[in-house]
Parts: sequence; structure tokens; C-alpha cells
Amino acid sequence: MIATATLVAAVVVATAPAPARADAPPGFTRVTAQAMGTRFEVVAWVATPGQRDAVRAALDEIGRLEARWSPWVEGSEIARVNAAAGHQAVTVEADTLELVARSLRWCRATGGAFDPTFFALAPLYPLADAAAFVPPTAAQLAAALRLVDCAQVTIDRARSRVRLGRPGMRLHLGGNAKGTALDAAAGVLEAAGIDRFVVDGGGDIVVRGEGPGGPWRVGIQDPRAPKGTVIGRVRSSGGAVATSGDYERFLVVDGRRYHHIIDPRTGAPASGCRSATVALPAGPHAAERADTWATALCVLGATEGLALLARHAPRAQAAIIDAAGAVHVTEGFDGWVEGAPPTAARQAP
Ligand code: ADP
Ligand code: MG
Repeated sequence: MIATATLVAAVVVATAPAPARADAPPGFTRVTAQAMGTRFEVVAWVATPGQRDAVRAALDEIGRLEARWSPWVEGSEIARVNAAAGHQAVTVEADTLELVARSLRWCRATGGAFDPTFFALAPLYPLADAAAFVPPTAAQLAAALRLVDCAQVTIDRARSRVRLGRPGMRLHLGGNAKGTALDAAAGVLEAAGIDRFVVDGGGDIVVRGEGPGGPWRVGIQDPRAPKGTVIGRVRSSGGAVATSGDYERFLVVDGRRYHHIIDPRTGAPASGCRSATVALPAGPHAAERADTWATALCVLGATEGLALLARHAPRAQAAIIDAAGAVHVTEGFDGWVEGAPPTAARQAP
């Protein structure tokens, strides 16, 4: 969500509990909606009633995509694919097929650090039930890991079908589909001729044009401080910024942090980051790609992750706060992060 109170045009990464909320900056309209387990917010420069309708339509579109892609929504396209695992191929809409196909490409590109079939491991980590949580045994992990393998997902483009190779395999696009939804929302706003906006989905953000005082400044949440505490900022006047971290949903049991990003190669909670922020310039699937890489960097860690990111997305900027709290930023990072090497991160006002 967005707090303009700290700085005009600052977008501050923060999730519930909501901080005191400033009104939209002069001339901008602010509309919010709940979707995908978070709060989405559009702040847009709106000049006509049609554009005002488009802001609402952009948020509605996110809700529609959630209903089609959430594995938790009975009858959703992904729920049907999961229910048929090891059996039939399931017919899905073209955009779902392409999203799954891109997700499989991310999986290959990251050596399986990003893998939408990680979901077979999720039952071993019931983070919502602290009292009942018991760390998984090695045998449980080994059994679940047999069901984690993006190479066993088959795409049939001619018939628009998706098939999971083994019974028990499960897809979950939670690592990237919020970005896809942000790209779709941005598309709705642009189609209505809106060219200055930010859409924020709980810290994953897509922006166009300038904010009220210049480029939008996207805050980076301090991963070990209360929600709303900013440890850095990155600037953008067109593109996407995504942050993943081990602080969004987690439990600490016997001194070990269990959180919602899983290393699909080992089945253990990802240990590569406290947080990873990725900013990409505007382009096809920019928010989806930023969302994907933020999740992947948390699995891969700074050294391997930033090298891979540079190869696949040379125009990406990234900041990683690693498991020990050390800060790593890409060269030319347009912003600042507390604790970053001073030569690497330029100070932004
Ligand atoms: P959010 O922005 O919602 O906090 P992230 O982009 O950080 O989400 O991704 C976390 C989500 O990604 C998890 O809740 C889960 O659904 C999914 N996920 C977890 N581990 C992986 C992984 N290794 N590969 C792909 N998706 C993952
Ligand atoms: Mg992600």
C-alpha cells in the first residue's frame, strides 16, 4: 500500500496493519481492493469519467484472475489442473497456458530455484497454525520432493492443455502471478489512456509516468523492523518493482525461521535472503518478471542470484538483504539502501 505521508510521491512498501493513510496526491485518484491475500491500490492521474471507470476495472481484473488461478478456489483452472495430476491433461484458457509456460521457463532459467510445483511441499509448512506446526522430517521432505519437478509439467499448445506428470503434484503460481495481475491491471489503465499511475499489490508495484513530484519512489521494507519501516528506496518512472522476503509470513521454531518461500531443491525454507527487491523497466510481463526474480533471488542468494539475474535481465536493478543482514545492490542501482556499499548505491533524495 502507499503512504505519501513520508515523502511526496513515495510509495512505501508495507502490509497490514495499515499505517495512517494520506489522501491521494492532488489530481490523483486512489482506489483500493482486496485480492490475492493482499490489498491492491491504484493511484492514478484520472481526467475523465471513463478513466475513473478504468481504475475500478483494473482492480476488478485482478480479482477475476485470482478466481481463475488460485489453487484454493474450487473449480479454478489451476485447481482443475491439480485435481487431475497424474491423470488427464486439463484444458485451460490461452493466457493461463502462456502463464504456465512462462513459469516453466523461469523454472529452467533459475535451475529450479523458482518452481511452481513447489506447492507439493506446502502441506509440510502450515504457517498459519503456529500451535500445530512441527518441522517436517527428512522422510516427509523426501516424499514431497518427488512431486516437485517442473520438468514433469506438460504443455500442449495445440489443444491448450496442461498436465502434471504424477499424482499428488500441485501447481501454485503465487511466486509470480501477482506480477502477472499487476501487468494486466496496468494494461487496463493504459488502454483507457491513463499514463501516470502506480498499482501496488502489497509491495509489488507497477508504475507509469511521473508521480506528483517526479519519479515514483518505491520504499523497501526493513525486513526486521515493524511494517512500514523503510530501509531503502528505488526510483522508477516506468516499470515494475517487486520485493520478496522471509518476513511476510513466517514462524520461528527452535530458533529456525520457517517462511513462505521454499527452496524447491531441498524442500527447506529459502535461506538466500531476508528480502530481495527487483526493479525492471517497462516491457512485456515486467511485473511478472520482477515478481519471479524477487522470489528466485530469495532462494538463490546474492552471489548466484545476482549473476543469474544479470544474464537473464541485464536491465534489472536489485537489492538483496542477505540472511546475515548484509546488503548487496546491483551496479547503478537508482536509489539507496541503508548499509549498502557507498560506491554501489547512489543516494536518492
Ligand atoms: P508475496 O509477494 O505474495 O509475498 P512472493 O513473490 O514473495 O510473494 O512469493 C511467495 C509465494 O511464492 C509463496 O507464498 C508461494 O505461493 C510461492 N513460492 C514459494 N516458494 C516458491 C518457489 N521456490 N518457486 C515459486 N514459487 C514459490
Ligand atoms: Mg514473487
